[in-house]
Amino acid sequence: MRRWSDLAERVAATTRTSEKTALLADYLRSLTADELPIAAVFLTGRPFPEADQRSAGLGWSAIMTAIGNVASITRGDLGAAYDRHSDLSKAVEDVLVGAGHAPPPEVSPTLPEVAATFAAVESASGPAAKARLLTELLARCDPATAKGIVKVLGRELRIGLREGLVEAAIAKAFDRPLDAVKWAGMLTGDVGRLAELARDDQLDDAELALFHPLKFMLASPAEDAAEILRRLGPEVWVEDKYDGIRAQLHKRGTDVRLYSRDLNDVSAQFPEVVDAARPLGWTGVIDGEILAWKDGLVLPFQSLQARLGRKSPSDAIRAEVPVIFVAFDLLALGPGDDPDGEATVEPLLREPLRERRRRLDAIELPLAGAGGRFIRSHLGVAIDVDALEVAFADSRARRNEGLMVKDPTSIYSPGRRGLGWLKMKKALATIDCVVVGVEVGHGKRHGVLSDYTFAVRDTKTDKLVNIGKAYSGLTDAEIAEMTKWFEAHTIATYGRYRQVEPTVVVEIAFDVIVRSKRHGSGFSLRFPRIAALRPDKSVDEIDTVDTVTALYEGLQHGSELLVTAGARTVPPAAG
Ligand code: AMP
Repeated sequence: MRRWSDLAERVAATTRTSEKTALLADYLRSLTADELPIAAVFLTGRPFPEADQRSAGLGWSAIMTAIGNVASITRGDLGAAYDRHSDLSKAVEDVLVGAGHAPPPEVSPTLPEVAATFAAVESASGPAAKARLLTELLARCDPATAKGIVKVLGRELRIGLREGLVEAAIAKAFDRPLDAVKWAGMLTGDVGRLAELARDDQLDDAELALFHPLKFMLASPAEDAAEILRRLGPEVWVEDKYDGIRAQLHKRGTDVRLYSRDLNDVSAQFPEVVDAARPLGWTGVIDGEILAWKDGLVLPFQSLQARLGRKSPSDAIRAEVPVIFVAFDLLALGPGDDPDGEATVEPLLREPLRERRRRLDAIELPLAGAGGRFIRSHLGVAIDVDALEVAFADSRARRNEGLMVKDPTSIYSPGRRGLGWLKMKKALATIDCVVVGVEVGHGKRHGVLSDYTFAVRDTKTDKLVNIGKAYSGLTDAEIAEMTKWFEAHTIATYGRYRQVEPTVVVEIAFDVIVRSKRHGSGFSLRFPRIAALRPDKSVDEIDTVDTVTALYEGLQHGSELLVTAGARTVPPAAG
């Protein structure tokens, strides 16, 4: 594990992609059979493969407790170190060096030992048992090794490593074509297995595995309708942009699962969709959006929020906020008649959208309105700016957020903001931010943590930079629930202000963006308010300073149609 930590450090210190790839390739080639898959997965910054449903279930709080157990370090020490570095793993290294923590090198854990501990932590029940296992592991680590472990566990691998870079390194290490590596990577969703297949020259054996979610294709920003046509034209497909949450439905026989955008199994949250899919006569994977829908009408995203983050919905909530699945893509298809559940599933990712949609239209999906739980996305064709604007207005009239514009010839690119899909929304917009600090509120909100300070990401430094502060627009029940969470995930306390683990994503509405030196982002928002908690989004998906700059410039020019990386249309503030 120490070698892995050192390698991660060296890659982080290198700015050139070709050098990073070369360092990684040499390292991967040098590993033993059992080290290779583990090292590759850790290099993508996670303890388990992405499509794996396991998570170690260790928050920063547990990591901090374990560090406190290993050496006599207080939370205050760690909080102060975190403030210096804005990086938990560096803070951990720093305090362990300061505490003189130096176990003998021969007890330093190997990669398989670290992986085994992560698996044990995952299956241990309760925070105390988990923290004990982590304490035992960290006690054996010198500060640099501990830093590597915290990077993986804290999901903090800011070494410029993205899956794409690890794939390039795998291709180089074992001298395989990059395209073949990428394709096998998409199908398996497990970079460890991918490394093994590449090493053994078996990339052609990779198969799409049902019930292992594929990464979702995302949409890119564009400037305006004319720009969209230039990029995707001459003929583009226009689909309504539904304001729900993204979901991937996998089905084989009567086994049905739904996965969220962060690849978690959310089947239990939407039992009506799962039950409606069970009897259907096909096997495969569809991509779509879960939408709150009642009496033939779309309900606003805020209604759907009552269904999020709960393990399973009560009958009352199911009746109040019924959901449907809007299908817009077909990613794999197998035969309906598959009694042994072993038939091969054909991946359709590299088929053009036109073909995927044709096949989606041909499968059985009982429609909402006729007693079913599905609709297919509303689809049209546009060849000029006027047609795009009309389609946009029509989609809004159907109570949707805006328009998704797609190139009918495009393939499905999992995990990429491909150029095949663009999104079109109207100002005013919202931005997705992460909460970095909270304070006790005033008046009626006294005693609860209701004032949030939030940040966007600066892609140049990969740091979180503050953009504003808002009093919660959440319900009392949500505030109470979030207060408990923030108390358990406080990094440091400064008077009334608590610096918290930066993982809660909120969607912020505002009236105007202004340039401001007050915040690290260089911008501040007029009348910011919390439009929604976004438990479906991870901190990797928050908006960036670049998006805010584009929004700012768009608003300056008073552009009617804003097409941004992460903006959602909301009504202006009352008054
Ligand atoms: P955003 O969340 O603003 O980045 O916009 C992209 C999201 O729009 C996707 O991840 C989907 O959840 C959602 N979406 C809604 N309707 C569609 C559609 N017809 N096609 C693709 N994505 C859609």
